[in-house]
Amino acid sequence: MAQSIVEAPIRIDTSRKIIHVDMDAFYASIEERENPAYKTQPLVIAHDPRQTGGRGVVTTANYVARQFGVHSAMPSQKALEMCPQAVFKTPNFPLYREVSAQIHQIFHEYTDMIEPIAFDEAYLDVTDNKKQLHSAVQLAHELQREIWRKTHLTCSTGISYNKFIAKLASDYRKPAGVTIVLPQDAEAFLLREPIEKFRGVGKKTVPKMHDLGIMTGQELYEQKELDLIKNFGKLGYILYRRVRGSDDRPVEYLRERKSIGKERTFGPFLQSTTEVNTHLKALAKMVAESMQGHQRHGKTLVLKLRYGDFVTITKRRTFTEFLPNDAIQFDQYAEEIFEDVVDEHFDSGIRLLGITMTGLAPLAFENITLPLYPNDN
Ligand SMILES: [Mg+2]
Repeated sequence: MAQSIVEAPIRIDTSRKIIHVDMDAFYASIEERENPAYKTQPLVIAHDPRQTGGRGVVTTANYVARQFGVHSAMPSQKALEMCPQAVFKTPNFPLYREVSAQIHQIFHEYTDMIEPIAFDEAYLDVTDNKKQLHSAVQLAHELQREIWRKTHLTCSTGISYNKFIAKLASDYRKPAGVTIVLPQDAEAFLLREPIEKFRGVGKKTVPKMHDLGIMTGQELYEQKELDLIKNFGKLGYILYRRVRGSDDRPVEYLRERKSIGKERTFGPFLQSTTEVNTHLKALAKMVAESMQGHQRHGKTLVLKLRYGDFVTITKRRTFTEFLPNDAIQFDQYAEEIFEDVVDEHFDSGIRLLGITMTGLAPLAFENITLPLYPNDN
């Protein structure tokens, strides 16, 4: 295929092993587990449209309801019309969140490189996994068995060398499927996929693709890069690469951190408690923001101070509960510790102050903002 001079070379890194885990009909399967009678009925997880005046959307439908054409994101009213005998069950998000946390614990037995997409979906980078398993397929099977053993829920997994293909693969065989797409098979796999499956090709883009005669990956592949960019902008640029098996996006996980802190040095040295408190306030604010940014909370606050004569004191205070990431509280405790430890060396001034939080843990799931159901209040 002729390459135009404007085309940047496409990088394809096949060294990673990425698994996309997608729980099968997650909310509906949890409800079936809690109440097995639902298994043989068309079950729709949504507020009953007869009680909401027709408002609301379907979060999940079980496999029986899907046979009537009901699917997630469909208006509940439409689901009722398609399947008048459907059972509508109001979502129990606290329960789903709890099960999701349980599944994440299982993920952590294999890797800490986990990128959650929703309660029921995550990418795992298992290139270097905790079980030293070389085969990602074996790992995926073990993971599925473990999830089943501990939750009695099934999931489907897609395995490949990048996120884009792994996600397509997890959708390939559902429920309880394992699909691996090896680098040498990626192109053939992608060319067969219908264009609707390419991420970013949504309701608005599909008709435009069809108008251009692009129905599958094959026809997408045949497009010139400049034409795709002209017709679809940045999405065109991305799709040109995706259909060639290129996607270098890393699995964006929260790195484990032992502590989060900020310190500042001063010249001239601080001479008064008022000055110290002003700077502790600023440090507390930065630490609280950083903690929130890293989605962590901690039980121990450490104050560090270094006097003008280089005498250094670190003093920690540990609480029984995790502290909220609140700048005012951090500042208050830091000021209290300061009053506790300050001594005659203060005459030489203070050249450094620091506040650090340790004893960290991930923020509870309920404090993390995940894109869920904007239509469902
Ligand atoms: Mg799912």
